[in-house]
Amino acid sequence: MPLLARSSSRPMLPMLPLSRRSGYTALYLLLFFATLVQYFVTSGSSPGYVLDAMRAVNETNVIYKKSSMASKQPASSKNGSLIVTVEESQSGRNFRGTISASWTKLVMDMYPPGTPVRTCTCSYCNVEQPPRAKHCHDCDKCVLQFDHHCVWLGTCVGQGNHCKFWWYICEETALCLWTGILYITYLKANISRAWWKDTVMILLLIPLSISIIFLLLLLLFHSYLVLTNQTTYELVRRRRIPYLRGIPERVYPFSKGVCSNLYDFCCVRSSKYSLESLPSAQQLEEKSRPYTCLDVLTCRCC
Ligand SMILES: [Zn+2]
Ligand SMILES: [Zn+2]
Repeated sequence: MPLLARSSSRPMLPMLPLSRRSGYTALYLLLFFATLVQYFVTSGSSPGYVLDAMRAVNETNVIYKKSSMASKQPASSKNGSLIVTVEESQSGRNFRGTISASWTKLVMDMYPPGTPVRTCTCSYCNVEQPPRAKHCHDCDKCVLQFDHHCVWLGTCVGQGNHCKFWWYICEETALCLWTGILYITYLKANISRAWWKDTVMILLLIPLSISIIFLLLLLLFHSYLVLTNQTTYELVRRRRIPYLRGIPERVYPFSKGVCSNLYDFCCVRSSKYSLESLPSAQQLEEKSRPYTCLDVLTCRCC
């Protein structure tokens, strides 16, 4: 029987029961379509533009104006991140000017006192950038928690779609790994054949292997960024960002602990605009304190 199988011109497939093989094929196809859908969902999603956050402030201001005539609305703060809120407008000022002033105040409150407005204003969009935002020259817009501009997706990766991006690379890695296993299984099954008959398959295995290594490294890198609440831009250009320049390398200024970072990444960032203030000197000092055995027991890192 093995001799008969070897002499056959058809590639030999692993000796799995037919129902199990169909199940694997269905799962593989499902993963393929899920990855394709995830690609389009990520590429079509907004990375969280500063102008949109400004508009959200605008709408909050309008709703607040209608619902309350109280003198002031305090900014709500949760876990160090500021959820978009605005001060009630003052009478006698034009509406646009009021919104602009509210946004400016909201942003400037996130920086240390005395920071000049000019240094936080984007020279292209002419809007005040909250901490962690950056102007993208490809999109020609300022992006909240700017990570990078992805040429493959044709969009920026930022606060609004970083979670979708992570899932996309996770699915793509799984798909490439599975494809690689199928390739190797096929080549192993045809090992007795003259190698040149499988030249195309062997040649295709080279870019596939490179893709798997690249995707695995990318997935690991972005998982590290998520767990430490950093972005690629902050990690690579740390010394160029004025408010990160003086902070030691091993200190993650925006990290709230692994569990909180993960929760924020999965559940908060993509659903609303979450503007994070710069940590105070006291908070930075606390974060830079070396870990002790007691910290491990009290789950300080979580
Ligand atoms: Zn800009
Ligand atoms: Zn961009």
